[in-house]
Amino acid sequence: MNIIVCLKQVPNTADVRIDPETNTLIREGIPNIVNPFDLYAIEEGVRLREEFGGRVTAISMGPPQAAEALREAMGMGVDEGILLSDRAFAGSDSWATSYTLALAIRKLGACDVVLCGKQAIDGDTGQVGPGIARQLGLTPLTYVFRIHSLDPEAGKIVVERLLEEGRELAEGNLPALLTVVKDINQPRAATLYDLRRSFRVGIRTWKASDLPGADPANLGLSGSPTQVVRIFSPPGRKGSPEIFSGERVEAAASLLADRLLAEHVL
Ligand SMILES: Cc1cc2nc3c(=O)[nH]c(=O)nc-3n(C[C@H](O)[C@H](O)[C@H](O)COP(=O)(O)OP(=O)(O)OC[C@H]3O[C@@H](n4cnc5c(N)ncnc54)[C@H](O)[C@@H]3O)c2cc1C
Repeated sequence: MNIIVCLKQVPNTADVRIDPETNTLIREGIPNIVNPFDLYAIEEGVRLREEFGGRVTAISMGPPQAAEALREAMGMGVDEGILLSDRAFAGSDSWATSYTLALAIRKLGACDVVLCGKQAIDGDTGQVGPGIARQLGLTPLTYVFRIHSLDPEAGKIVVERLLEEGRELAEGNLPALLTVVKDINQPRAATLYDLRRSFRVGIRTWKASDLPGADPANLGLSGSPTQVVRIFSPPGRKGSPEIFSGERVEAAASLLADRLLAEHVL
């Protein structure tokens, strides 16, 4: 099986800060990590290869330091890492990111499964996976919690999807693109052997000119239909907390219940 994993290097912080002048993320001084959801995609890709044989290739689009993320993926057992890095890609929105990743996947030839995380913890849109599926005509299967069955001969896959209202069993044709949630597996730690292999094998870097059919008008900031007008953190909620106390917890609970009834909350 030919398995592709898309992974993104993200700042290691939930406290995303925005430059009010440029409306872009402030990345300086913040260490980078592999997007946490992508670790589950990597693990699932390596498990599929262990079960069905074949090859797992990880692709990341980003600045040169995103090669570290690909090395980490190789440390977990991915066969090869490809970095898409070019000034022409800078400023890509989720559409241009999907377009560029799709071109790279197409260049790699026929694939059976493409794995993505359900979302990146910085951009948070969850659009890139379905965007790639649309560009390449792959079956999109999002929020995958478990691969129920996969039959490469019959070209069929059945997955369990984790939805807000419950779980859903979905069947689709291969090739398919899966976005995975963190409950799907337990990612393995990188091994020293595989990390050393990643340095020996190296990471291939592709520029825009390496992607057949790349239309410069669809790349980077100029190829991005999204216009960010303003990014801001919403002001913190102001509340006036009230503590209900009594000698016994039952008395405090009774006071609370009375207040909730009076406020028509109950
Ligand atoms: C106008 C504009 C300009 C922007 N400029 C920049 C910029 O200069 N630099 C910048 O870093 N961001 C920039 N962004 C943010 C950028 O669009 C998103 O980070 C990117 O498109 C991915 O979207 P996301 O983070 O919401 O990923 P999601 O859709 O939430 O990610 C889902 C999954 O897709 C895969 N994936 C996502 N991104 C990548 C990637 N780059 N490589 C491989 N796999 C990936 C991963 O598997 C990930 O788990 C810009 C956005 C806009 C709108």
